[in-house]
Amino acid sequence: MVVTTVTYRFESVPSQALTDKAYELQIQGAIHAELLVQGEIARLVASGECPRCGGHFTVDRSSEVPIVKGGTLGVGDEADGYEASVVTCNGPEVEGTPPDKHGCGACFTVYARRQGVNPT
Ligand SMILES: [Zn+2]
Repeated sequence: MVVTTVTYRFESVPSQALTDKAYELQIQGAIHAELLVQGEIARLVASGECPRCGGHFTVDRSSEVPIVKGGTLGVGDEADGYEASVVTCNGPEVEGTPPDKHGCGACFTVYARRQGVNPT
């Protein structure tokens, strides 16, 4: 394995090259991502190896599912399936990581397995 120095570079849109690599990492089981849908709230839980710096990132965020006239634009309509979710690396610091930031700043898309959560 060739070790290269990764320097911090914040990206605000997902890079296709990093998304391709993240996809390979997901297939290998090095990245896990799930979207837990409960009513109007979708919780993204993802973690694994950053495709850029190789550090371990974790994401746990909830967002409201937009409901327009009873529709949900597909989110939560099915018990299974995958949802493309954009994440930013927040792993260990690399060269040049600002003091108030984490990780390498990489932005990429993961495919979160969608699971409906039954209110009990
Ligand atoms: Zn990273």
